[in-house]
Amino acid sequence: MTCKLWPPINKEEYKGVWVYLEHDGSKLKDVSLELLGKARDLAAKRGNSNVGGILVAGTDEMAQEAIYHGADKVVVIINPELKVYTPYEYANAIAKVVAKYKPEIFLVGATKRGREIAAFIANILTTGITADCTALEIDPKTGDLMQIRPTFGGTQMATIKTPHRRPQMASVRPGVFPKPTRDVNRKGEIIHETVELNGRKTVFLGAERRIERDIADLPPVESADVVVAGGRGLGSAEGFKLLVELAKLLNGTVGASLMAVRAGWAPHTRQVGQTGKTIRPKLYIAVGISGAVQHMMGIQESKYIVAINSDPNAPIVQNSDYAIIGDYKQILPLLIEEIKRVRS
Ligand code: FAD
Repeated sequence: MTCKLWPPINKEEYKGVWVYLEHDGSKLKDVSLELLGKARDLAAKRGNSNVGGILVAGTDEMAQEAIYHGADKVVVIINPELKVYTPYEYANAIAKVVAKYKPEIFLVGATKRGREIAAFIANILTTGITADCTALEIDPKTGDLMQIRPTFGGTQMATIKTPHRRPQMASVRPGVFPKPTRDVNRKGEIIHETVELNGRKTVFLGAERRIERDIADLPPVESADVVVAGGRGLGSAEGFKLLVELAKLLNGTVGASLMAVRAGWAPHTRQVGQTGKTIRPKLYIAVGISGAVQHMMGIQESKYIVAINSDPNAPIVQNSDYAIIGDYKQILPLLIEEIKRVRS
């Protein structure tokens, strides 16, 4: 059977099992090392063909680590424009190296980044990819890669092959394969490739840490003595930045009303109330929260409740020990400044 979509390729030209070596700026991700281990296994089944790695914006130390974990050859892509990750440009650079070195199998870790670029690379190379494989084998009859993954909601296992195209591509989630033993006596080759981008489609304007990440780093609402919670009155996710700052100053954490969670400003794990968490902190500060009965059900055991609300008639104001009436955007910076001043 031949593929009608694309002209046939000479499969004999493709040799080796290669891995995209993802890193966090200082070291290789575990999934890349796990894939090198699997690549060695597959290469042995293909008659000891070579194992390679492709590193973008990485260092020779990282390349050396890949060699210690099973790579025979590591291509380090050099291009200052790739210092910051952008999917289209990364995929193009990697695809160029894959097209040059022609591995018959190319594996990518199914991380957030890996998933994104794997699809781009497969598209550029006009080949197939199977995402989230849980096993990889070599078909003893044809030598093709058997890309095995759950299907139909996990009730069946599918074996997918790419018999007409090369490389055969698969992504694998972290932790599926064991990390190979680090062998400092392993020798390999590090190759520097200067790859031109031929135009840029993505322009990097800047990076901003999302507030959800800051909230996620704080302790859970159930365990904190101080909970600073935000509601619809904050007006946007941005408003939570002030809450995070105040919570940190008080060694506390951040909670949210159902409406703030529904707006997507805070995760559901932070919701306090009838359908959220029931908490008993020593101090509960409700910012821009009206104090609906369903919300109060979750906080009524708090030792002290402080309301910060622009409406003096809001139910929370009546049900709090202390209330500050006004716009939280003016009140919170003053409160934060005062706490810092008293402590200094
Ligand atoms: P709103 O009621 O809209 O209140 C916003 C407040 O912000 C107002 O008081 C306003 O005066 C104030 N405000 C506005 N601008 C400012 C400003 N610039 N500065 C200061 N204050 C400002 N809710 C929960 O929270 N948790 C639950 O678990 C929960 N479970 C529920 C279960 C059921 C079955 C039902 C029916 C409802 C449930 N609710 C729950 C929803 C609840 O009834 C309320 O709708 C919700 O708590 C209101 O959220 P909010 O106080 O953030 O918003």
